[in-house]
Amino acid sequence: MKICDWMRSAKEQLTDNERPHRDLEILLERVTGKPRAWLIAFYDSPLTPYMLNTLQQLVARRAAGEPIAYLTGEREFWSLPLKVTPDVMIPRQDTEILVEEALKYLSKTTNNSILDLGTGNGAIALAIASERKDCHILGVDCIDSIIKLAKQNALNLGITNVSFILGKWFSTIKKHKFSMIVSNPPYIDKTDNHLLTGDLRFEPKNALISENNGLADITFIIQEAKKHLTPGGWLLLEHGWNQATIIQKLMSIHKFSKIKTSQDYGGNDRVTSGKSH
Ligand code: GLN
Repeated sequence: MKICDWMRSAKEQLTDNERPHRDLEILLERVTGKPRAWLIAFYDSPLTPYMLNTLQQLVARRAAGEPIAYLTGEREFWSLPLKVTPDVMIPRQDTEILVEEALKYLSKTTNNSILDLGTGNGAIALAIASERKDCHILGVDCIDSIIKLAKQNALNLGITNVSFILGKWFSTIKKHKFSMIVSNPPYIDKTDNHLLTGDLRFEPKNALISENNGLADITFIIQEAKKHLTPGGWLLLEHGWNQATIIQKLMSIHKFSKIKTSQDYGGNDRVTSGKSH
């Protein structure tokens, strides 16, 4: 079967999909090992039976809703190609706001040490590390396979100013103090219907859901952060679109100053930051 004929028939299986053409191209790139430009130029080329069989299995999984990033095992974040597995949340473009904000606050000083809580596949830690070779970033996550994945990503990218350790939030952080703490913790309420849609249906619940209306983990991090920050250090948290007011309040109760919320690309409140004294 030719690529173009396969495209046509596969598209009919992805009727619920928002961008079936792009998804099929991504799967084709993966299975044939050819870049998109080649596939477009050689649209009439035949697919081998092995490729066809693999593609058919992937399309069936995609049709059942499985995220494209889990099918390919990859997702780009901050222009870095990163491995993902179903153990971790798929990095979101909106989280790049957290990286942008972190880089702004880091701009004037050197030799910062930064803590990334709930690092997942290491997206935030690796993005910051790739921009600031003079800083060291420590990523923490509570599952061993996730730490291995983050380390693998660092190795693949040749990024050496990061390290990853196992721990639940601050549990394995000893006396060391950081000049910045960043986190994209779970913050969705368990009754939120959003969880029943799209990629979220397949992502690990412990990376998405938090008790207390989605605020339990964020509240814990805000309470504990100061013990682990140097004077003048920054805390930056990603959160839900409707959580900025309560997070600002929590930061102010815990005596953070210069509290500010930034919006994501969709104009929603997404990242709140505060400065420790
Ligand atoms: N921003 C993600 C979403 O709503 C959730 C991320 C998280 O819980 N940390 O799709």
